[in-house]
Amino acid sequence: MITTHNLGFPRIGPRRELKAALESYWSGEYEAEQLHSVAADLRRSNWHRQSDCDLIPVGDFSFYDQILDTSFLLGNIPARVSSEDGNALNNYFRAARGRSPVDSDNTSVRACEMTKWFDTNYHYMVPEFDAQTTFSLHADTLLAQLREAQAESVTVKPVLIGPLTYLRLGKALDASEPLNLLPKLLPVYKLLLELLAEQKIEWVQIDEPILVTELQPAWQEAFKTAYQELSGSGCKLLLTTYFGQLQDNLPLACELPIDGLHLDASNNRDEIELAAVQLSTSKILSVGVISGRNVWKTDLTTALDWLTPLYEKLWERLWLAPSCSLLHVPIDLERESEMDVEVKSWLAFAQQKLEELNCLKTALQQGRHTVQSELLSNREAVRARQQSRRVRNPDVRDRLVEIEPTMFARKQAYAQRIVLQREHLQLPLYPTTTIGSFPQTSEIRQARLAFRKGILSPEAYEKSMHKEIRHCVYEQEILGLDVLVHGEAERNDMVEYFGEQLDGFVFSRFGWVQSYGSRCVKPPILFGDILRPQPMTVEWIRYAQSLTKKPVKGMLTGPVTILNWSFVRDDQPRSETCKQLALAVRDEVLDLEAGGVRIIQIDEAALREGLPLRRSQWQDYLDWSVDCFRLSANSVKDETQIHTHMCYSEFNDIIDAIARMDADVITIETSRSNMDLLEVFDVFEYPNEIGPGVYDIHTPNVPGEDHIAALMHKASRRIPAERLWVNPDCGLKTRSWREVTPALKNMVSAARALRDEVMSKQAS
Ligand code: GLN
Ligand code: ZN
Repeated sequence: MITTHNLGFPRIGPRRELKAALESYWSGEYEAEQLHSVAADLRRSNWHRQSDCDLIPVGDFSFYDQILDTSFLLGNIPARVSSEDGNALNNYFRAARGRSPVDSDNTSVRACEMTKWFDTNYHYMVPEFDAQTTFSLHADTLLAQLREAQAESVTVKPVLIGPLTYLRLGKALDASEPLNLLPKLLPVYKLLLELLAEQKIEWVQIDEPILVTELQPAWQEAFKTAYQELSGSGCKLLLTTYFGQLQDNLPLACELPIDGLHLDASNNRDEIELAAVQLSTSKILSVGVISGRNVWKTDLTTALDWLTPLYEKLWERLWLAPSCSLLHVPIDLERESEMDVEVKSWLAFAQQKLEELNCLKTALQQGRHTVQSELLSNREAVRARQQSRRVRNPDVRDRLVEIEPTMFARKQAYAQRIVLQREHLQLPLYPTTTIGSFPQTSEIRQARLAFRKGILSPEAYEKSMHKEIRHCVYEQEILGLDVLVHGEAERNDMVEYFGEQLDGFVFSRFGWVQSYGSRCVKPPILFGDILRPQPMTVEWIRYAQSLTKKPVKGMLTGPVTILNWSFVRDDQPRSETCKQLALAVRDEVLDLEAGGVRIIQIDEAALREGLPLRRSQWQDYLDWSVDCFRLSANSVKDETQIHTHMCYSEFNDIIDAIARMDADVITIETSRSNMDLLEVFDVFEYPNEIGPGVYDIHTPNVPGEDHIAALMHKASRRIPAERLWVNPDCGLKTRSWREVTPALKNMVSAARALRDEVMSKQAS
């Protein structure tokens, strides 16, 4: 008998029911009971969706984030969130988002920090530690959910975040080392496992994904100590790892006193075969054979060819599962009735992935003939995808072959071309600009929606967008900004807007994936060779430019960001796909330039996000991603100025790569860190121009002129004034004009004051 299991299921619900319920609770519209009842319904329906699995995860549901749940389970709750009423749900939301429905503005608290979960686009709430942190068990929620599941006759497998991963992902608020807390933490885990054993739980899934990262010897040792301590607690432990290979952690994982080990099989067959040999015969090997990270159908026949000898060796010791929790993929493809049928036939969302899993099990156990028709249609879909001209377009392939080394570089170095640019652009010192988008008002959204639905004709839509552009340019003129933008009113999303105009993408209607809390994203699906049938932005920018003598920036999303925020084809290296995107952006850049645009910004908001989990693989990623940026940007004349924007400025560790992009100007997020993030420029001579953000657009606050000037003074201690720009942290689309107008007004006056200072210094 092969056992199948699942590591976790999306909790937001097929219609984002959880999002709606959470937001209703936060706004005071829902009572706690109503929220709990939506949650219980979602859990129940999720268990039914997974009913073909032999073991079903419980504890993967969360109101906000599973790591935050773990902090509450382990009694590691920041003191500031606990209110006197002792309402755990409200304390939980205070930790998650700084306030609960009963809090007013002046009782809100600092929310826990949020950061990316490994290399996914899911964000978790960072546990907080200090040397005094203690732990205590609060298992009521988990136990209640187990009872709920058992009442539905579900064979449950509680899911826990392992102690080492929990400590590793947290942050010490003092200078202490979280690993030192392990002796205090382990007894709580032990108690929990004993409690679960009392509930007749056989298997517990314990997630230790940090085993796919580089671990220092102290952490490797700690794994031994921890699992020694936890073994024999009465439950069987399935240690789960995902998102990559274990490499030198593999022997360690195989030797731990656990009952089963789960490995991600994506690009990892060698390790699995090794583990099949290294694991003692009393242990289970769980193979994550269905990718939990992408949306493609598994090639079931190829998987079976590989699994069969493994099964013949391991028999009932072989378990099958998705590679990781299905949290990272949309729920159900069936609902996508409007999707391109050809592409749809190549896809599998969470529900379909579990069907694939079941098919593999049946084929192995009862013979392939018992699932002949499923295997046949799977094989046909896989073949159709491989052979489709929409996946492999010869024209695109020819262009890739013709890429030459000269296409990656500007004609002259920055020092020479900046002279031409200054002549051409005639900008003052400390030039002011914005990052691209202006407030997305409800009129703008309504117009886009009406156009999409066919209610607004293309002519009427163009007219309404022109009106928005006119307004935006006019406001910027009044404010006295130096480099203007058209405002991005026509874009709902900076990746989707481009994806929709490129061949090689499809979009789902309901393919939501949780990003954090109630926030979900619907990543585009990049299935085939990328071709740009026609210019995507030129008319809007030209229209904006026709309204003003000041330079209007052309505004594009860069190839690496489009790649990192999409579900990407898995039949070729990401670097190849990125190169195709780069060529499409390059064509757009050239068209903008030909259309008279003098400054072009190519946003690479997500470049850093694509860094591999292991540092040893960073350089390779940085090499090709920077090359792709260069390929997209560097075809222009020397007097055309290239800008890029990044939504962060922690690039101490990748500053060489950033410099190698060779953008003439880079705008970054710094205002919140009080310019401290610019420290790297003390040790690294960044050669080109920089606009460190002086207006934190993530809050409704309006920065004062003095505050902005002080930030710029601080920046000018590290970067010469003639290479500094003055701009906000990021785009303004989530803000209102009421906030933006005074903020930008202050920004412009601060820049003017800075210029005057320099003038008077030069005069004296
Ligand atoms: N140009 C985009 C905007 O202004 C950039 C957004 C981003 O960096 N995330 O909205
Ligand atoms: Zn940004």
